[in-house]
Amino acid sequence: MKEYQLVIVGAGPAGLTAGIYAGRARIKTLVIDKLGYGGQMLLIDAVENFPGFPEAINGFELAKKMYDQMIQFGTEHKVDDVKEIKKINEGFSIKCDEETYFAKSIILAIGSKPRKLDAAGETEFIGKGVSYCAVCDGNFFKGKEVAVVGGGNSALEEAEYLSRIASKVTVIHRRDQLRADKILQERAKNNKKIVFAYNSVVDSIQGEGKVSKVVLKDVKTNKLSDINVSAVFVLIGQIPQTEIFRGLIDVDEKGFILTDSNFRTSVKGVFASGDCRRREFWQLVVASAEGAQAVHNALEYLA
Ligand code: NAP
Repeated sequence: MKEYQLVIVGAGPAGLTAGIYAGRARIKTLVIDKLGYGGQMLLIDAVENFPGFPEAINGFELAKKMYDQMIQFGTEHKVDDVKEIKKINEGFSIKCDEETYFAKSIILAIGSKPRKLDAAGETEFIGKGVSYCAVCDGNFFKGKEVAVVGGGNSALEEAEYLSRIASKVTVIHRRDQLRADKILQERAKNNKKIVFAYNSVVDSIQGEGKVSKVVLKDVKTNKLSDINVSAVFVLIGQIPQTEIFRGLIDVDEKGFILTDSNFRTSVKGVFASGDCRRREFWQLVVASAEGAQAVHNALEYLA
């Protein structure tokens, strides 16, 4: 079993930043991620609010820069899927698909995954018009009418992105007030290709083999109406990917990992940072900062 002082699970912004700080602290560190690296950064067309990039930077490019920076400081990286973490001796065994590792301490930076609508037709049409990522699938709908569900930053950013490809984007939101940052609201409202269906929820997604319409329900009147679209992009927030750690550490009712202000979980030696942790403000820069802070506290633990 290969031994490390620190194993970081997840290579999104929190995990990669933690890897940079751990490498510079010269502790033997491994970052494990089942999909490579980048996490949700890979889904962002243009990151406009990460300091240092006034022209905006593509999410993949930013992830690559963070990864290269981490590798240059000697942190190791392995693509593998963590299946089980157990407390053993003075540390933890981390059983993955391919190998089992030993770590004196762990930082969980496992991020989150898109929340589903749970509307009729949603699962049936995944890959046939239902998508959770405009940057990944938007190009399939050049010149077509599409819908985006949600009123947060992700929904409005992706609606703007889609407006450069599709002929019309209808943003479906369950309230009459958007949650997104004001700058994104202004842009979307000034964009001639974006229209809003407020106070509306998706009743069903329909089509023959692929999406052709969405049935909306007005939440005030319960009246149903159709809009003809070729795709529905569901951007209604995130849920944590903490299922396999739930027996080991304390999580809240939604599955977000509970930590103290030093990023310590309920198990000594296990820290958490980034979108898998319970907190209020979800930003790339916050996830990165948390990765750095988690390492600072892991170093104290290891000492
Ligand atoms: P979010 O901020 O939680 O917004 C989710 C949106 O989906 C809300 O408008 C919510 O409606 C709606 N919603 C939730 N469940 C729903 C359901 N079952 N049916 C219909 N609508 C539903 O999620 P997000 O936009 O994915 O963003 C996640 C976090 O990342 C946020 O903190 C956000 O600020 C951050 N983020 C930042 C940027 C940026 O800074 N550029 C970009 C993307 C994301 P209500 O408003 O009624 O609750």
